[in-house]
Amino acid sequence: CGIIGYIGPKKASPIIVEGLKRLEYRGYDSAGIATCHEGKIFIKKGAGKVDELVKKLKFNELPGNIGIGHTRWATHGVPNDINAHPHTDCTGKIAVVHNGIIENFQELKEELLRRGHVFRSDTDTEVIAHLIEENLRVVKNFEDAFRITLLRLRGSYALVVLFADDPERLYVARKDSPLIIGIGNGEMFVASDIPAFLAHTRKAVFLDDGEYGIISRDGFSVKDIVIGNIKVKQIKEITWT
Ligand code: GLU
Repeated sequence: CGIIGYIGPKKASPIIVEGLKRLEYRGYDSAGIATCHEGKIFIKKGAGKVDELVKKLKFNELPGNIGIGHTRWATHGVPNDINAHPHTDCTGKIAVVHNGIIENFQELKEELLRRGHVFRSDTDTEVIAHLIEENLRVVKNFEDAFRITLLRLRGSYALVVLFADDPERLYVARKDSPLIIGIGNGEMFVASDIPAFLAHTRKAVFLDDGEYGIISRDGFSVKDIVIGNIKVKQIKEITWT
C-alpha cells in the first residue's frame, strides 16, 4: 500500500526504513525492503509492523546506496512473509515493489508457468518480476524490457523495479495508483506519497497515469508507456509541512 525508493550517495536502508514509517498511516499488513550492493540484490521482508520487522530482521543492516521499500495491503495472497514485497524473478536479479492490482495476473501466471517459471508467492505482483525477466532475455535492454512488460499489464499499479545488473537506476511506472519522484541534491527518491521523502527534499515530479520513468542519482526521464515518447515534466515545490 506504500512505496519508497532511494538512490544516492548515502546508505539506502535507513532512509527507506524512515520512509516506510512515514507511510504507516495508510495501513498495511506486511513490509519489506530490497537494496543492491556489489551487483547483488539483498531482500528482507515479513508480515507485521515496520518497527518490529526493523528489529527482528535488521532492515537497517542491508548494504548499498540504492533500494526500494514497501508496505503491503494484501489483495491477492494472504498476508504472510512470502507474500510480502519486494518480489523477485527466478534469477533473483530483479526486485519489484507494487501498489495496486494486476487484473490479468492469472492469465500471465499460467503463461509463465508453462514456460518454466517457478513462483514463490501467491501475489499478483510476482508475475511482473518474471515477465521482466523473460523480456530482458529477449531484448537485452532494461528500459525496453520494463516498457514491454508494462504493455502487458491490466489493472492498476505504482511500480518500482531494481535490477542487480543496472544498479545505478530505478525503473518506475504509474497507472491508477500514485507515484511521485523526489528530487534531491545528487540523490533521488520515489514514493507513493510525499511524506515518505519530505524530510529530504521539497522538489517533486508527479507521474501521470500511463507514464514510466528512469531515475538515477542526478537525473530522471519520464516517458509515455504506450508511445514511448519523452514527457516534459514540471518540478513542483512542496510548500506544506
Ligand atoms: N496486489 C498486491 C498484493 O496483494 C499489492 C497490494 C498493495 O498495494 O499493497 O500483494
